Amino acid sequence: MRIGIIGAGQLGQMLGFAAGKLGFEVRFVDPSSKPPASVCGKVIQSPFDDPVALIALAETCDVITYEFENVPVAALQHIDGLAPIYPPAEALSFSQDRLTEKQLLESLGIPLPAFHAINSRADLDIAARELGLPMVIKTRRLGYDGKGQFVVKNNDDFDIAWESLGDKPLIAEQWVAFDYEISCIGVRSVSGEIAIYPISRNVHVDGILRTSRSPLAEERLSETASGYVHQLLDHLNYVGVLALELFVINDQLLANEFAPRVHNSGHWTIEGSATSQFENHLRAILDMPLGSTASRGHAGMVNLIGDIPDAIRTQTPGVLHDYGKSPRPGRKLGHFTVIADTAAECDELVDKIDKSVNQST
Ligand code: AMP
Repeated sequence: MRIGIIGAGQLGQMLGFAAGKLGFEVRFVDPSSKPPASVCGKVIQSPFDDPVALIALAETCDVITYEFENVPVAALQHIDGLAPIYPPAEALSFSQDRLTEKQLLESLGIPLPAFHAINSRADLDIAARELGLPMVIKTRRLGYDGKGQFVVKNNDDFDIAWESLGDKPLIAEQWVAFDYEISCIGVRSVSGEIAIYPISRNVHVDGILRTSRSPLAEERLSETASGYVHQLLDHLNYVGVLALELFVINDQLLANEFAPRVHNSGHWTIEGSATSQFENHLRAILDMPLGSTASRGHAGMVNLIGDIPDAIRTQTPGVLHDYGKSPRPGRKLGHFTVIADTAAECDELVDKIDKSVNQST
C-alpha cells in the first residue's frame, strides 16, 4: 500500500512516520528541494498544482491526501478518478474561503463571531456599524498563522487596513475578547466511523500557535465542541482528520475556523494519545478501523519557532521533534512534547519549556 501526499513539510513528515509504523509506503509532491518529509519517502519535486506531477503521484499511489489546505481545488480535478482523494475536495474548498467557511458553520447552527463580507471601502464602514470596533479584517483566501489580518481599532485604521489588504476579497469579523482558545480534532473513516480527541487549549503568539495542552477539565465545553466536529464531519461526508478551532468566552464557544487536515494543535497526540492524529488520518483514508483517541496522561506541546536551542536537545522529561528545517524567524522548526500525571505538572513543564525556548520570539 502506498499513500500519496501533496506537500512534504512537517505534517507530511509526521504522516510519513505514522505510515512507516503501519507498514505503508509514502510518496510526496512538493516544490522544495529537500523538504522535511523527504526522510520518509520519494518526493516528486514540482509545484503543488503541476498536473504532470499530480498524475504521476496518483498513478503510483493507492490513495491521495494532502498536508495543507491551500492545495488548489482545480489541481485535484486533474487526478479525479485516478485514485481516491481524501479529505474530499468540497471540504477543502469551504476551508479555503473564510466567507463560505463561516456560512457553512452558520448553516449548521455552530455559533461563531459575527462577520461581514467586504467588497469595497464602503463595506468597511457598514461592517464597523454592524460589528462594532475593534473588528478584524482578514483576507478570504490564503491567510494562515495570522497573516493577511488587520485589527481595526479606530476610525484612523480604516484607510490603512484598506490600503494594505483592499486589493483582495476580504471579510470583517467581530473582535472576540476571548478567555482562551481551544481546538477539537475529529476523524471520520471512509465507512463513516467517527472518533474525536479530547479538546486542547491553545496559546497563539502573533497569530502562530505557541503551546497546546490536553485534556481540559471543562467537560461541557469538550462535549459541545465534539458535537460541532461530529456535525461537520457528517455533513461534509468527510474522510480523514479535521480540526476545528474555537474561542472560549464566558464559558461559551464561538467557532473560528476549521482545517481539513492533521493539525499543529494535535501534535501532542503522538505521545499523548493511544493513537496519534497522524495514524488515525491514515486509518481513516484507508478505511481501516480507527484507533482509540483516549489520552495517555496530561500532554503539553511547545512549538519551537525560529530556532531550536541546544538546551532543548537534552531536556528531560519530554520528546523533541526536530523537522530538519533551516532556522528562520517565525518558522516552525520543531516541537517538544511532555506527558505528566496531572494538569498542574503539565502546565508547569510547558510554561518552563516555553519560557526557555521562545524568549526572543
Ligand atoms: P486565524 O488565522 O483566523 O486562525 O487567526 C489567528 C489568530 O488570531 C487566532 O488564533 C486568534 O488568536 C486571533 N484571532 C483571529 N480572529 C480573531 C477574532 N475575531 N477575535 C479575536 N482574535 C482573533
